Order: sequence, then structure tokens, then C-alpha cells
Amino acid sequence: MTPINYHPTDDALSKYVAGQYDTAFSLVLATHVSQCVKCQNTVALQQEVSGAALSEAKPVKMEMGALDLLERAETETRPIENVKTMIPKVRSKIFGIDVPAILSRYLDGDLDSIKWQRLSPSLKQHILLVNGKASARLLWMAPGKAVPAHGHSGEEMTMILSGGYYDGDEAYTQGDLHFADHKTPHVPVAMDDGPCLVISALDSPLIFSNAIPKLLQPFFKM
Ligand SMILES: [Zn+2]
Repeated sequence: MTPINYHPTDDALSKYVAGQYDTAFSLVLATHVSQCVKCQNTVALQQEVSGAALSEAKPVKMEMGALDLLERAETETRPIENVKTMIPKVRSKIFGIDVPAILSRYLDGDLDSIKWQRLSPSLKQHILLVNGKASARLLWMAPGKAVPAHGHSGEEMTMILSGGYYDGDEAYTQGDLHFADHKTPHVPVAMDDGPCLVISALDSPLIFSNAIPKLLQPFFKM
């Protein structure tokens, strides 16, 4: 696996630790954290800090402040034992990846036998969960092909499971977490060397620039 370059912010991770995200976003974050030692360390430290804050009735002088702990997490590369992923992994032969255990829980079978819903010749989806306006899904993009241009009325959080895509000048590859909340349309384009598989959460409908995706989006729950 290539090094992970894009991570959730510390604020996003603390919202995640505090259970303030919808299930759809928590699932995407949990999938990233399960693959990312850096974020595992940050989460463990945040849990430690929030646990200490809850259990201490009286304020105590801490040896190290919360910010120092988080800063240390930025540079700490040694995995913390108790958050290491020790759950058995299921291998996907089609995608050549170990399916994160948290994701396997939301698949009816294994990743290689799910039934895809075709959105276009180059784009397929499999909805994992819908919770009111929020939803989480797997998206499959054909090599070198683009997702229809769209903006966001809310937030979109995407993690790359296999392959990669370009969005403007940025390149996102396996393990990266891409957060989009701007209304300016963006056009993710899958890299040429193979299909791109992502898990993505939305908290409100996308804003498509073209008429056809607009007509289809209620049907596709996008
Ligand atoms: Zn990370």
C-alpha cells in the first residue's frame, strides 16, 4: 500500500470520537482509521484525553496538555497496541485488497459478490446504508473515466479503497480520505491504470451540473 497522504482533520477525528457524526460518515472515518496508523494514534490519544476529562471530578495538572498529545500523535509512528486492527481480514480477489473488517459488516456477502447498480457505463454504486438524508455507498469508477461534475449542498467524505483518482491538481490513492464541502463543481477522474473503488458518505443531495444526472439522482439516492 502506498503511503496515505490525506487524513481527516483532528477536529473531524474528535467529532468522530465524540460520536457526533452520522453513521454514514462514521463508517467512512472508521474505514480510514482501520487502515491508518497515524489516525489510530490520534484517535487513541483523543479517547484517552476525553476519558480522563470524564473521570476526573476535580481539575488536575496534566503532565502533557491535550494539544501536546495530539502534536505527539502527528510525529508518533509506532502503532498503539490496543487499537491495532486484530480482526481477520477478508481478501477481495477482484480488487486485490484486504477488505476492512468494519466494511465487511455492511456487505451482504463479500466484496467480490455484491450486486452493483450501474449508473453509467463507467460508474457503478452499491448503497451500504441510508439514514435520513445521509447515506454511505461504494462507488466503482472505470479507469480514466470521470464522475459527472457535481457540487455539494452539504458534505461529502470519500475514502479510496483501491486504485485512485484525480480531482483538479490533487491525486488521491489507496487509503486517502477526501473531504469536499464546497459548492463549486468538481470532477473526480479515475486514474488510467485500473478501476477506482471508493467508499463515500453524503449528508445531502449532490448538485449536478447536467440535466441527466439531475433527473436520475432521486432514483440513485445521490
Ligand atoms: Zn489517517
